[in-house]
Amino acid sequence: MSSTLFSKARKRLKEAAKHISVDPDVLVKLSHPQETTMASLNVRMDDGSLRSFRAWRCRYDDTRGPTKGGIRYHPRVNMDEVVALAFWMTFKSAVVNLPFGGAKGGVAVDPRRLSHIELERLSRAYVRAFAGVLGPDRDIPAPDVYTNAMIMGWMAHEYSTIVGHPCPAVITGKPIVLGGSLGRESATGRGGYYVLRQLEPMLGLTPEISRVIVQGFGNASIHCALPLFDDGYKIVGVSDSKSAIFDPDGMDPNAVLAHKSTSGRVAGAPTFGKARELSNEALLEQDCEVLIPGALENQITDRNAAKIKAKAVLELANGPTTPLGDKILSQRGVVVIPDILANAGGVTVSYFEWAQNRAGYYWPEQEVDERLRRFIEPQAVEIWKIKQEMAVDMRTAAYVLALDRIGTAVSARGTRKFFRH
Ligand code: GLU
Repeated sequence: MSSTLFSKARKRLKEAAKHISVDPDVLVKLSHPQETTMASLNVRMDDGSLRSFRAWRCRYDDTRGPTKGGIRYHPRVNMDEVVALAFWMTFKSAVVNLPFGGAKGGVAVDPRRLSHIELERLSRAYVRAFAGVLGPDRDIPAPDVYTNAMIMGWMAHEYSTIVGHPCPAVITGKPIVLGGSLGRESATGRGGYYVLRQLEPMLGLTPEISRVIVQGFGNASIHCALPLFDDGYKIVGVSDSKSAIFDPDGMDPNAVLAHKSTSGRVAGAPTFGKARELSNEALLEQDCEVLIPGALENQITDRNAAKIKAKAVLELANGPTTPLGDKILSQRGVVVIPDILANAGGVTVSYFEWAQNRAGYYWPEQEVDERLRRFIEPQAVEIWKIKQEMAVDMRTAAYVLALDRIGTAVSARGTRKFFRH
């Protein structure tokens, strides 16, 4: 039990609680998910057979507002992972001070093995199964690993059919023409980019001397690597689920992207020097100043943390560093910019999308990007300040900030001390 992802995630809460005075009621409330629902999605396959897929939705805590978080399609997703991800979303929303709680959903499926029509049936079945849990004032999903704008469009449509009127605000990350927000697609990576650039002086980085390795060349990482490259950072390594390349002379992420979209893998992409192909694990241990884990959980652990050469780790994935990995990095002076700050750009622009849907009034892309910058940069500075004042790592500082915000909201309804008198 002690090694489950959720129990590891919950350790962060206990660690943060050591550093601020928080009412015990708050910890009681935040130690368990508010509501976890499970369903079996029975889907008719193209060959006529019926298949059943296990699916979950966890609403972790709604003290600060409707719960918010993505839906993940992955063959190995399970309830423990969904609950851990919902816990992280609760703290992530609070870090950026959004009026949301946290949630997450998942379906145990390999979507790459489904036809388009099977994928559509599965996505609509998810909404039918969880329609009572969802709602624009209750629980608002979004994309996550292996889900995308088109899937969100199907889901919004299914929900709208159930309630009998268009209801775009029930889901974010939709196609632009179906009520999506400009800038949502790039928001997670762009948020990480703003955070890194804001912290540059504190981290002793400048674009000219900084080499970057990006693990996982998916949506989040791409939109961080592109602006970093434009600003003069040298991208020396990239990987995807099948391959990894490293070139000390660097590469243009636009060219890697073009190569990946035709060949399906990053290996073989043109670079500025001689690229070496290596394993995903070995890539993490190459020379660089900034390491960006942008794929899945548990990538930096007690097994490889001592070999990481980066000065800073920007966590674009959720939960890429284990607590033991964290400890080793921190002892070695490597600064980890934690997921709940580094990848909070996605949920921030999801909030903007939800607000635009409800107002029926849409903003230009530049305004979305600028508002994102204004939301996320001050939080990065505040977290750095807490880190310095409390002499803790950045993750603990981020949890302290979030716990303080959630705790104040929980306590506003009365504490043990208040009710005893
Ligand atoms: N799945 C994304 C995350 O982990 C986005 C969540 C959202 O936009 O609600 O932050």
